[in-house]
Amino acid sequence: MPAPIPENLHEKVADRLAFYQDLGIASFYRDRRAEAAFLPKQLVQTAESVIHSTQIPHEEPTLSKTLGKPDLRKLAASAPQKSAPLPLPAAPAPSLFDAADKITDDTLLRIREDLGDCTRCKLHKHRHTIVFGDGNLKAELVFVGEGPGADEDAQGLPFVGRAGKLLTQMIEAMGLQRKDVYICNVVKCRPPENRTPEEDEVSTCSPFLLRQLDVIAPKVIVCLGAVAAKTLLKTNRGISQFRGQWLDFRSSKLMATYHPAYLLRNPNAKPEVWKDLQKVMAVLGLRVKKGKPA
Ligand code: URA
Repeated sequence: MPAPIPENLHEKVADRLAFYQDLGIASFYRDRRAEAAFLPKQLVQTAESVIHSTQIPHEEPTLSKTLGKPDLRKLAASAPQKSAPLPLPAAPAPSLFDAADKITDDTLLRIREDLGDCTRCKLHKHRHTIVFGDGNLKAELVFVGEGPGADEDAQGLPFVGRAGKLLTQMIEAMGLQRKDVYICNVVKCRPPENRTPEEDEVSTCSPFLLRQLDVIAPKVIVCLGAVAAKTLLKTNRGISQFRGQWLDFRSSKLMATYHPAYLLRNPNAKPEVWKDLQKVMAVLGLRVKKGKPA
């Protein structure tokens, strides 16, 4: 008889997947529907070309089950040669459609009203509270996280749990207070078990985030973790490839750094994040302190 599945296994797997997500490793599944779309010479797309792709692929390339084993030597010979790294991702400029869609005289209040008691995606089924965002409506600095966790879902405020406490310390180490900045998330409702928000949930909710960012028009946006960075930059590249580098997002400068939840699991990464925040401080004209934060 097979051994019983430990009760907390689901939580452990979710935690491990979140950890991979923070590292920028996102897709683990294989979509068999993609098989039909691949001809023999396109059987294998090198990992490198997937990583460097600036498009979010809808379907992962898979090896066809029907074509037998590929000749690995032939495939290796026909694989594209290592090319120079692609330029850093840049958020695509709004299309004419987006620009026309831009709401004149938009306000955070109107966005909140439009969001209403949202039932647009399946996340509404389990949430207690919509977590819209919090902070200074005229902030020069906006932090964008992934989505509310249990504490945020209970209180209706972003980043108030364990990761939130660390974010607050990071903000204070920069010489600021939470009330000086604005904090929000890609999705406004807690994903069950704190799983990573799914593509349909992100695409349903992110227009509200984009409106928030358009209204606040901060000097700097800091993306906390891969989900925020990938959503705003529309890239599938791993966050470690562009973390800590200045990128453009509409009229703001954007920097992606690791998510505080990742730092809780990997405190060794804190100095990297502190370096990123020091770059942000320099752009905002804040006094940059040398060494570790107090
Ligand atoms: N993690 C997030 O990404 N957002 C929150 O609000 C809390 C935890």
